[in-house]
Amino acid sequence: MNTKPEKVRFAPSPTGYLHIGGARTALFNYLHAKKTGGSFLVRIEDTDLARSTKESEEVIIRDLHWLGIHWDEGIEVGGQHGPYRSMERKHLYQPFIDQLIQEGKAYYCYCTEEEVEEQRKIQRTNNELPHYTGKCRNLTPEQKAQYEKEGRTPVIRFRVPEDQKILVKDLVRGDVEFDSNGVGDFVIVKSDGAPVYNFAVVIDDYLMEITTVIRGEEHLSNTPRQVLLYEALGFPVPKFAHVSLILGEDRSKMSKRHGSTHVDQYRSKGYLPEAIVNFLALLGWSPEEGEEEIFTLAELEKIFTLDRVTKNPAVFDIKKLNWMNGQYIRKAPIDEIVEMSIPFFIEAGYITEEESKTRREWLVKIVEAARERMEYLEQIKDHARIFFDDTLHLENEEAESMLRLDHVPMLLQAFQEKVEEVEAIDTDFAKGIFKVLQKQTGVRGKNLFMCIRVALTGQCHGMELVDILEILGKEKVLARIDQALAYLG
Ligand code: GLU
Repeated sequence: MNTKPEKVRFAPSPTGYLHIGGARTALFNYLHAKKTGGSFLVRIEDTDLARSTKESEEVIIRDLHWLGIHWDEGIEVGGQHGPYRSMERKHLYQPFIDQLIQEGKAYYCYCTEEEVEEQRKIQRTNNELPHYTGKCRNLTPEQKAQYEKEGRTPVIRFRVPEDQKILVKDLVRGDVEFDSNGVGDFVIVKSDGAPVYNFAVVIDDYLMEITTVIRGEEHLSNTPRQVLLYEALGFPVPKFAHVSLILGEDRSKMSKRHGSTHVDQYRSKGYLPEAIVNFLALLGWSPEEGEEEIFTLAELEKIFTLDRVTKNPAVFDIKKLNWMNGQYIRKAPIDEIVEMSIPFFIEAGYITEEESKTRREWLVKIVEAARERMEYLEQIKDHARIFFDDTLHLENEEAESMLRLDHVPMLLQAFQEKVEEVEAIDTDFAKGIFKVLQKQTGVRGKNLFMCIRVALTGQCHGMELVDILEILGKEKVLARIDQALAYLG
């Protein structure tokens, strides 16, 4: 394995929030930099002016930090090769544009959008791949002057050499060959002077001294254009690694239909960044040996290697993510989990901001009891409802019939007496009371546990009954027994 320090980059377009696929690309780049002792750069590719927003840029940056993916150079942190937004780099592109024009490797094209579209239509009807026909390739100065007089503003197109094989040596996909005749002269600068992604990316990767370009497979089709530009400009071609798409469980490209597709959606449901990182790392990569699946970022930094990134598409298995997140929820320091859960308590209207401080100890108990059963923290809203809603709601027929069993009033009365005898419900009491009741009433098993559970919570299943007793406390337990007895009449 190559252990030379590598310089890699993540170059999101701020046209939307951080996608799961983008986050994985960022992670693989980050890990490759760490593993090789190299460096990781983040820059913003805002060449798509109409769709780029400041808000997207901010959310992408925030979510990368949230995941724990930090960079050595680039947007926010600065560095020697700035600025780190494409549109602020126009002055740096200009000499290369001039060079290409002077050497005849690029030319001004005066075709309007409509004309180009018209050409494409004809090609499609002739079953040809749509590409620019080369109409403006060899304009005379007079023709140019005529177009200018008509008020047309030109784009600049790259002159794609004919009959050339373009070889992309891809670290994940192996050698991929393209035919230059299928490419067509492509635009590198728009009529308003704005650089086009395929051009800007080459200049940026060159000036920023990127050694390996790791990105999503959807960019593989752009790569021959970029390779042609590297060659035309006399730049060394970096290594490429195109990571496979992420598919939904039905094996179609992951989209909204498959659930949440963006990091911020997982963040706001109460997924832990450590779990997302762990899960993403295994989407298309696997460690060399062993069945182990739980890895911290620090561990991944040591064991990640690009040569174990697979060519096969990765399937996004939400059940696995939920399982993994559950593992992290149970392992994390309780205070951290409580802190992350508080917004959900507030959102559900269970507590106020103020109460999140004054009733902290009580919240810790709830979270501690519930975390055994949670896949993501938003679920605390469901688990904790029983502590905040004092009215009896029987969740289903099973609950109703359990409560209606003949022995229940007698059982509840015995329970009531015992609770009244103690000053408070502590762990010892909560743990011991069921044995006592069993001895005294002869009721056991489901008839004992489930009936009391239903009387207190309206539910047949849920977190440990011992925990429920302790969390409710003496007063609420008594009130709920009263309520259940009154319900039974
Ligand atoms: N800006 C591109 C994107 O967000 C990335 C291009 C690249 O990595 O070369 O998809």
